Amino acid sequence: MAENTMVGSNLMEKIVALCKRRGFIYPGSEIYGGIAGFWDYGPLGVELKNNIKKQWWKSMVNQRDDVVGIDGSIIMNPKVWQASGHVEAFTDPLIECKKCHHRFRADHLVQNDSAAPEEAICPNCKERGQFTKPRKFNLLVKTYLGVVEGEQVEVFLRGEITQGAFVNFKNVLDSTRIKIPFGIAQIGKAFRNEITPGNFTYRSKEFEQMELEFFIKNNDKEGDRWFEYWKDQRMSWYCSLGLKKENLRFRKHEDHERAHYARFAEDIEYNAPFGWSEFEGIHHRGDWDLSRHNLTYKDEETGEEFTPWVIETSGGVDRSALFFLIDSYFEDPTAGSGQERVVLRLHPKLAPVKVAVFPLLANKEELVGVAKSIYKDLKQSIDGVVAFDDRGNIGKRYFSQDEIGTPWCVTVDFQSLEDKTVTVRDRDTTKQERIEVESLASYFAEKFK
Ligand code: ATP
Repeated sequence: MAENTMVGSNLMEKIVALCKRRGFIYPGSEIYGGIAGFWDYGPLGVELKNNIKKQWWKSMVNQRDDVVGIDGSIIMNPKVWQASGHVEAFTDPLIECKKCHHRFRADHLVQNDSAAPEEAICPNCKERGQFTKPRKFNLLVKTYLGVVEGEQVEVFLRGEITQGAFVNFKNVLDSTRIKIPFGIAQIGKAFRNEITPGNFTYRSKEFEQMELEFFIKNNDKEGDRWFEYWKDQRMSWYCSLGLKKENLRFRKHEDHERAHYARFAEDIEYNAPFGWSEFEGIHHRGDWDLSRHNLTYKDEETGEEFTPWVIETSGGVDRSALFFLIDSYFEDPTAGSGQERVVLRLHPKLAPVKVAVFPLLANKEELVGVAKSIYKDLKQSIDGVVAFDDRGNIGKRYFSQDEIGTPWCVTVDFQSLEDKTVTVRDRDTTKQERIEVESLASYFAEKFK
């Protein structure tokens, strides 16, 4: 297939427009003017996100015997966040332009450590050297619990889902027979009062994370081995779901940017239209968290008690969804003049709609009847969304499914009435083959394996 030469530099605008038009992602609270940093997923977006989470869970939990899952609560006892260090250290450096009063993250304006952020140029009003000195800005989102005004307790919405795994470390050990090395996996929402939300969903104030906390023995050999192991696993997982290798890289954290809990850390970055950008972190958290929560592990065989070390893989569902969309976006230069064929070449496991069924002509009852009955049957046999469409002409219907990434379209035509076969069109090759109606279920079962 021809390379994606026509996409151009306004790719982000095209993605944002497509997401809104086709129902992947809408601006949050849009009818009231929106709210910065919040997004709503539409009918296709929620399928994409669910598919990502489903694949993650399958590979990180269901297909392993050394990882169990949990689903912790968003609000926890505030002592959790004191012990974890977030109340004190979950901060970003905030600077404000004295001229236009826009606020920025100092580390986003100045890449070079030695340069003073106060001297930077304001991206809003373009003034130089008008910034306030950086001050620490805590990202935890606060809310209040309690029914009596004045007696309410201040609590935090979790800033990372991680802590749920640590506070349940003992519960998991006591209620399962799992032994070190083992992991606790979790997917859920996290909230951060980001100073500069932006780049579409990339930096939001409410987002979803998928994380593994993997507990190991407390020595360097094990630490190095598991850190490398999980780096490898995570990168392979993204590649196996279709992200192009050349758009992915690891980036080691410099000493100054490592989070307060991390011994060492590497990000998986994507070559986004707005630059190389982190969307998963592999962190060696050492014994930071368990020792802050006074938790230890007892080896039943040796009787040895110690504080395990933790290797964490922390990915963003929203950032992954965005990068899967960007990476799969393709404008087909062979579509012909005046035709615009946009294709999302999403991996079939991630595609929001798995199969679409059409009657060749909408006004031929015999065709519509057969198509509807195939549609009904496929809805039962396929794990995911099956669509039916009889609007417009067949070419437009194909293009419409291509644009949302539907891997296969089934068309009932006049030959179908004679020999009980249908055409199955492949999104990426646009080639069609004739398949017997009777064997459609097994044909697709094989495709989605
Ligand atoms: P950044 O440096 O971009 O602020 P981070 O290093 O603070 O990110 P982590 O705390 O390591 O991010 O969080 C793990 C993952 O959670 C990130 O790789 C990302 O996928 C996701 N994530 C973090 N913050 C956000 C956000 N504001 N919006 C969307 N996803 C986020």
